[in-house]
Amino acid sequence: MSLVLKNFRVVDERTDTFGSVVVENGRIRELIPGGDDSPAVRTAAARAAAVIEGENFGSRGGLVLMPSFVDLHAHFREAAFSAEPPGPAETIESGCLAAAAGGYGAAVCMANTRPVTDRLEQAEALRRRAGALGLIDLYPALSLTRGMEGRELSEITRLAPNGGEPAPGSGANAAGGCRLISEDGKDLPNEELFLAALAAARRAGIPVSCHCDLGGEDAATARALALARRAGAPVHIAHVSTAGAMDLIRGAKKAGGRITCEVTPHHISLTEADAAALGPKSHGRVNPPLRREADRRALIEAVAGGTVDAIATDHAPHGETDKERGAPGFSGLETAFAVCYTALAAPEPETPGGRISLSRLSSLMSAGPARILGLTVPDADPDGAPPRGFIAPGYKADLCAADLSAVWTVDPAAFKSRGKNSPFRGKTLRGKIVLTIKSGRPVFGTAPP
Ligand SMILES: [Zn+2]
Repeated sequence: MSLVLKNFRVVDERTDTFGSVVVENGRIRELIPGGDDSPAVRTAAARAAAVIEGENFGSRGGLVLMPSFVDLHAHFREAAFSAEPPGPAETIESGCLAAAAGGYGAAVCMANTRPVTDRLEQAEALRRRAGALGLIDLYPALSLTRGMEGRELSEITRLAPNGGEPAPGSGANAAGGCRLISEDGKDLPNEELFLAALAAARRAGIPVSCHCDLGGEDAATARALALARRAGAPVHIAHVSTAGAMDLIRGAKKAGGRITCEVTPHHISLTEADAAALGPKSHGRVNPPLRREADRRALIEAVAGGTVDAIATDHAPHGETDKERGAPGFSGLETAFAVCYTALAAPEPETPGGRISLSRLSSLMSAGPARILGLTVPDADPDGAPPRGFIAPGYKADLCAADLSAVWTVDPAAFKSRGKNSPFRGKTLRGKIVLTIKSGRPVFGTAPP
């Protein structure tokens, strides 16, 4: 099966050029710069099973093709939280659909499910179910402790290097399936246990994603960074929301630790004033909370300055009743790109954005998070999957296209996610995902005739 995507603006962390992309057997074979009148593009298009024409979507250059996004932080809750009509706030199926519609090709789902994902076999079962759907690659995070109860370590002690399962034949072939471990919304107050979890992460060579809430975000971030340093373990600080925490991370990175961090689309674009307008105890509620304007600006400076490694959604779908009762979090996969493009990269003067290049935004949403998961390196995945995060020969043909000229109003009723709670409801955003391709096959959107 071969596919040619022709006449696109092709953007990744290190590329921004007009050209055509040739895909074969789920991998990128070639990027051919320039128009489609070159013999190379003509030959490839004549041989291809399908051709997708960029110019059909909009004006020349208005359509941008990027590596599909990688989310380091999503909640596909399934049985977690109350299952009021119309059922759970998200299933693996609806979560994967929402991710594909948002331009995502891979996501890490957090372990605060019911039951908690604390065993390799569970993680592998989730991964297989998502794999069978063929919409995205799911990388379930194992919790740090059994049942997230903070008493004894989970099966993170069984993780082999790169997150694989060491002993085959146990019925739990988790090869490559666990790339990040996390207690998500919980910190581990027990220091010895936290250090043991960090030691397991160091052995496996995968980071611990730290939520950092205990005693306030700044204090908890300082603690996580100090303990990670002591353990010599990689840590990833989740959804950084304060100027203080960002300063600590900047300092720790300079000191040379294996430290990465993420920010969310909502924290870089909204403040406590938005939370107040939405209802600080209901639709404006999220953990960590929306902060002051000074914090928001500090996050954007850190994005522009290179301290931030990834944008993660913290996609947290809730039923309407749960949300009204104060369940924290927002459904974020389907608005992430547009929110970030509008806030960070859309050209002035139409928007307050224009601070970073599209290549930098692509880096934050694709190569950056893929690197944290160890997925940008050829042959890193024991499953034999190609590396991801770039549009270059040999890389996985997980791609998405966005129409940068699109201006649209967020209507959560149209979300594929079953969680219709969005702080961006009714807001006008720029840039829209119009096509998502998984391993060389379109899984979302179609080219207009
Ligand atoms: Zn979370």
